[in-house]
Amino acid sequence: MSFFTAEDETFRLEVRRFIQTALPLEMRERNHRAYHPTRDDVVLWTKALQQKGWSVPSWPIEYGGPGWTVRQRHIFEEECFLGGAPELSPQGNSLVGPVIYTFGNQEQKTRFLPGIISADQLWAQGFSEPNSGSDLASLRTRADRDGDHYVVNGQKTWTSEGHFSDWLFLLVRTRQDGKPQAGISFLLVDMKTPGITVRPIISIDEGHSLNEVFLEDVRVPVENLVGEENQGWTYAKVLLGEERSFSAMVPRCKMEFERLRRNASFSRTSRGRLIDDPHFAKRLSALEIELLAHETTTWRVLAEEESGHAGAMPTSSIIKIKGTELLQQIELLSVEALGLDAMPVYPEEEYREALPATMPGPVHAVGVTSEMFYRRAATIYGGTNEIQRNLIAGTLLKG
Ligand SMILES: Cc1cc2nc3c(=O)[nH]c(=O)nc-3n(C[C@H](O)[C@H](O)[C@H](O)COP(=O)(O)OP(=O)(O)OC[C@H]3O[C@@H](n4cnc5c(N)ncnc54)[C@H](O)[C@@H]3O)c2cc1C
Repeated sequence: MSFFTAEDETFRLEVRRFIQTALPLEMRERNHRAYHPTRDDVVLWTKALQQKGWSVPSWPIEYGGPGWTVRQRHIFEEECFLGGAPELSPQGNSLVGPVIYTFGNQEQKTRFLPGIISADQLWAQGFSEPNSGSDLASLRTRADRDGDHYVVNGQKTWTSEGHFSDWLFLLVRTRQDGKPQAGISFLLVDMKTPGITVRPIISIDEGHSLNEVFLEDVRVPVENLVGEENQGWTYAKVLLGEERSFSAMVPRCKMEFERLRRNASFSRTSRGRLIDDPHFAKRLSALEIELLAHETTTWRVLAEEESGHAGAMPTSSIIKIKGTELLQQIELLSVEALGLDAMPVYPEEEYREALPATMPGPVHAVGVTSEMFYRRAATIYGGTNEIQRNLIAGTLLKG
């Protein structure tokens, strides 16, 4: 039995048709290679969706969202992945946007929400620091009040898309004494402010999406403080729950599984197509069963969320662990399925756009190994899987 109603399926077709007509072919091909989206891609696609009122899928109608049900959001996300659309900026869309409309004042809502809806302003998340990741409350970047400004000094790291973002939302320490969590504030910072230096971190896939951000005497107007001073931890906790991923990687896993199946039908062994090899087919089927089970569990969680009966189970942590581990298994098998064709490096800079006339391997191999390497991080970002296990244990063993 499907989780989706007949109306949901009609909606799915509408989304699919829109993507087929509105998404430029070359953008679709680039995204099927799974490289990091460029700023231009994100802006262009967000603006196309904005015409339909779909650019901030999870937002309520009053703030410019479509007011979709949980099922419609899931369908939309899935169709976007399968259709090769670039991912909408998660930092603006899912993280700072909801914080601003939930905890920000009217002036902040008027000033910042339209730029997220249109992608005229892209955002980066400045939470992690060199010695504060899982233990985020230990962060040391400080903001000292000086008249009607905060003066910010410190360093952030792993800042995704920091090199092409316009704004940064920061967690900063505004009180040095007392409980660490009770001295943190949430600031919105224009990346063009003097004193900000962004340096690239090239990840294992040889791509550039990550950065270090250095802040030296950065003057931030006090009106850019969200909510109350020293209450930033409360706002961040809401955001971190959302970051554990709404759809639990199901759309990305499905996209990658389809690519794996397709590639396995291109790959040859001495006895014919790899996909017809009984040993390989058994492993592929086992993964497909896992994926179906994970999808069904995710539907159950979404149904509970929709009915307002989410309960006390730490379900977002459970499905985050499962989704990320499954994604890594699918991508590892994808690399294996390519055999020697998985060996060449296809650097993002050269292979993201048009493919060169001479290539060391077949077109379908481009991006597979890079994606597998990059998603080693899926069990780290959004809160590591070990921390998710702590959260599960903390909830279940308490009572
Ligand atoms: C690709 C990528 C993108 C990212 N993007 C951003 C971004 O845009 N903005 C941002 O602010 N941050 C970002 N991060 C940072 C991310 O949130 C942190 O990497 C993550 O929270 C882990 O922190 P850490 O790297 O400092 O590792 P640590 O916290 O030092 O952890 C190291 C290891 O110890 C384990 N560990 C730590 N504490 C415990 C514990 N209590 N119990 C059991 N095990 C534990 C961890 O699970 C991990 O295996 C990104 C990270 C990656 C990899």
